[in-house]
Amino acid sequence: MVRLRFAPSPTGFLHIGGLRTALFSWLFTKKNKGSFIFRLEDTDRNRLVEEAEENLIRMLDWAGIDIDEGPGIGGDYGPYRQSERLQLYREHVDLLLEQGDAYPCFCTEERLEQLKSNQRSQGETPQYDNHCRKLNKEEILSRIQSQEAHVIRMKIPEKEETFRLKDLVRGTVAIESGQVEDQVILKSDGFPTYHLAVVIDDHLMQISHVVRGEEWLPSFPKHLLLYRYLGWETPEFVHLPLILNEERAKLSKRHGAVSVEDFRSKGYLPEALLNFIALLGWNPGDDRELLSLKELTQEFSFERVSKSGSIFDREKLNWMNQQYLLKLPEEEYLRRIWEVVQEGAYRNQEQEKIQQAAEILKTRLVTLSDFNQKLGLFFDQNPELNDPQALEVLKQEESKTVLREFLVQSESLSELTSDNLGQLVKSVQKTTGIKGRGLWMPLRCAITREASGPELAVMLDFFGGEKCLRLIRQTLELPSIMNGP
Ligand code: GLU
Repeated sequence: MVRLRFAPSPTGFLHIGGLRTALFSWLFTKKNKGSFIFRLEDTDRNRLVEEAEENLIRMLDWAGIDIDEGPGIGGDYGPYRQSERLQLYREHVDLLLEQGDAYPCFCTEERLEQLKSNQRSQGETPQYDNHCRKLNKEEILSRIQSQEAHVIRMKIPEKEETFRLKDLVRGTVAIESGQVEDQVILKSDGFPTYHLAVVIDDHLMQISHVVRGEEWLPSFPKHLLLYRYLGWETPEFVHLPLILNEERAKLSKRHGAVSVEDFRSKGYLPEALLNFIALLGWNPGDDRELLSLKELTQEFSFERVSKSGSIFDREKLNWMNQQYLLKLPEEEYLRRIWEVVQEGAYRNQEQEKIQQAAEILKTRLVTLSDFNQKLGLFFDQNPELNDPQALEVLKQEESKTVLREFLVQSESLSELTSDNLGQLVKSVQKTTGIKGRGLWMPLRCAITREASGPELAVMLDFFGGEKCLRLIRQTLELPSIMNGP
């Protein structure tokens, strides 16, 4: 039975690394016709963020990762919020205490801080000194009876041993027991720590494969021990490599968007983001880069997940998003554009005009929300002109000559259209003696406000002749252009 879980803590928005963990687990589940479970690990009460649970679920839904069991969805193994399973953890802690595999610890924060700082100053790695492990039964009983605050710690065996984990990505990983301390498993507030809750839940929820970030790798000895103490079989383990930024440091907010919410609001398509993320640390065994969700599901395996960190290359994500935008069927493209327009300043414009703009801009968009930013050209009275290349062109005397002559000669036409544009430009060439780029570029820059904006004739059709002539006049009046190079 293949059962995988995604078990985020509600401490913030869904991070791109979290989405990858969810995706890899989901792909493996789908491939093996198993169940995908969402479990909320909300035992750290100090780090709870309101709305995080809702955001996590909404972002998975946006990405198209469907959940078979989870909060609000049901299933046989719930509740799926750890805060609602406290009784279960307590029962297992009692069992561990009874077996002598755990003990109460009354050490105060101050004592533990002092201990750590002494160890550090002696160049040792800070570790609990097992002070309370040596307390006798009577003392423990009387301190508990007088309601002294305490936590419960699990025992690491005194006899040295090497813990070995067979990880599906990393092969066998070994850690010596001397490097592991007597871990707190139940806090004084009655909430379990991650280490206890994860083992109990993964077992009771019959999880077959535990997939998580490599930051949890050093913790595996504690987990293996708990499985041993409780007499349970261990699941398979997969620790995923880190996602790094372009400087090979851990991906963080300082280097741009990292939450799925950010990518969504910047107008990335979920299918592009998933495809991109699937290739962070995994490959299909050949050089294919564009893979649909169906292909990813067919191809996915943990054997091809790499051990080393993978770089989050934003340029590549942009390229991929463009490819997906271009591949969208016309109707679907327009539907998504329309959704984006509703969030922007041009939502009251005529639908037909928006649709025309969408067609003109299709090959020029990197993300969907670029569309809203580019609509100024289409609908503003005097669209901004701040493209440095366009300004450079327009400041030239020759450019201004072309534009002025174009305006003068246009007066002989009843209407400027894309049909008579070529004729008019030729005639301007004759009068001014200016040819080629020198002739077309100023017109393009004045009308599309960019040196590499949409085609001139296309924009002329969109605006109509009169508006184009007005845009040229406005351009000539701009102070930044009047003042020359
Ligand atoms: N709650 C843990 C986290 O958010 C989950 C680790 C795990 O999947 O076991 O990192």
